[in-house]
Amino acid sequence: MHTLRASKYGLSIKQLPSSIVEVIDALTKAGYQAYIVGGGVRDLMLGLQPKDFDAVTNATPAQVKEVFGRRCRIIGRRFELAHVYIGRDLIEVATFRAPPKKAVTSAQGMILRDNNWGTIEQDFVRRDFSINAMYYQPRQGVILDFCNAIDDVKSRTLRLLGDPKTRFEEDPVRMLRTLRFAAKLNFSIAPEILDVFTPEMTQLLRDISPHRLYDESQKLFTMGHLQHVLSLLIDFGVWKQLFAEVRPEVSKFIALAARNTDQRIQIGKTINPAFFYAVLLWNNFLERTDFYAAKGVVAAEARAQAGLDVLKRQSTRTIIPRFAETFIREVWEMQTRLLNPKPQQIEVLAGHARFRAGFDFLLLREKSGDENTQGMGQWWEAYQDMTTDEKEAAIAQYNRQRAKTRRSQSKVRIEEPEVDSSSIAPLVTEAPTRSRRSRQKSSAPVTSPAVAFSAQSGDSIDANHPILKRKRVQRDLSQVIFGPTQ
Ligand code: ATP
Ligand code: MG
Repeated sequence: MHTLRASKYGLSIKQLPSSIVEVIDALTKAGYQAYIVGGGVRDLMLGLQPKDFDAVTNATPAQVKEVFGRRCRIIGRRFELAHVYIGRDLIEVATFRAPPKKAVTSAQGMILRDNNWGTIEQDFVRRDFSINAMYYQPRQGVILDFCNAIDDVKSRTLRLLGDPKTRFEEDPVRMLRTLRFAAKLNFSIAPEILDVFTPEMTQLLRDISPHRLYDESQKLFTMGHLQHVLSLLIDFGVWKQLFAEVRPEVSKFIALAARNTDQRIQIGKTINPAFFYAVLLWNNFLERTDFYAAKGVVAAEARAQAGLDVLKRQSTRTIIPRFAETFIREVWEMQTRLLNPKPQQIEVLAGHARFRAGFDFLLLREKSGDENTQGMGQWWEAYQDMTTDEKEAAIAQYNRQRAKTRRSQSKVRIEEPEVDSSSIAPLVTEAPTRSRRSRQKSSAPVTSPAVAFSAQSGDSIDANHPILKRKRVQRDLSQVIFGPTQ
């Protein structure tokens, strides 16, 4: 074990938020050992801004609770730890862990429960990478390095502690962590890891709960190096485990969205990981929509069904929370609305809660060469910067163009029938709780009563449906008589 002088590596207590120092100090005062460990120490050493600071101690969670009282909550079952609230900060305080007992390991060697308290030496060997296993005591100004981690910091190498095969088998999520840190830190992966990081090994990710994998996918999306990690996910066969239905290929659209995400993080903007899921699954959504359309399902119903199906399938790998699923479906539905808006609804659409995300999505599609957007991405982009007068003129121009296109088109187009012009129908209906059986029922062909109902209730319908033809005449007339500004 080496004791490094923290100041030699540019670390000082002054860099730390007072919350983590308070936690370390309180535990020390109560007679326990306490250190900062993990990503916080690693990032400080690399001159990066740490995301957060985790503490580790020889106090058990119950003892940590005794020290912090009501400011502490014990959480987790598989991995029990204490959450300590200091002001607005939350500090995770873990207890030194010894190797897990055999009884709590699955047949594949996966650790199912990990609450066997131990010493700092035992704790260190259980950590994943050498660079994540440095213990920093800020009051004493020392870093405890049990495995020459400092050499790996210097050579920028990601090295698993212990035998990589065993470590991946114990916890397959370490494969994801390997790629995440390789991309985030721009480190090379040690050869002994590369030797065992095979497509067969990635199959072990199937045993990980889709909830945990969703959390990990969020970390991948939001770490600021999404572009880099996507290609690693493909190269190492991890993509197939996370996004089984999505073609393993970084399309121009995906690449642009990833770049956009990274740029937003760089300038401190927030990002919604669900947006990137919407991008990833977009093609699957389109294909599934076509599938239903080919069966004669009306357009709006086809889109709704397709959205539900695609998300349902994805949830076998990563469980996207309900609110995020709704967001994704709304972004998709916005694409139809933004592409062919009724002039009277343009202003309402621009103020819609999902407009920004839908518009960003449309623009990314357009920039990646998707001609189906028909230049509407640019149109909306320009529209947002206009004065009220300019907006009126732009809508009038759009209206004329639209009428002209419609007149010159001899073929029937699939469009939304006319609805109340001053408001827009909800983007999606909250129906994901429906069972697969009842969903199949409602995706019946055009002749079924379900579809007739959906046509009357204002959803878009199949091109050949008589209702559409009747409505088209009405709509043309209304647009000639009433200008958008009246
Ligand atoms: P960041 O927070 O920047 O994403 P981190 O290294 O701090 O990176 P956390 O998930 O916060 O990652 O975990 C804190 C520490 O806990 C890690 O540095 C590592 O020492 C240990 N750790 C986390 N997950 C695992 C794991 N699956 N196996 C072994 N050790 C782990
Ligand atoms: Mg961390």
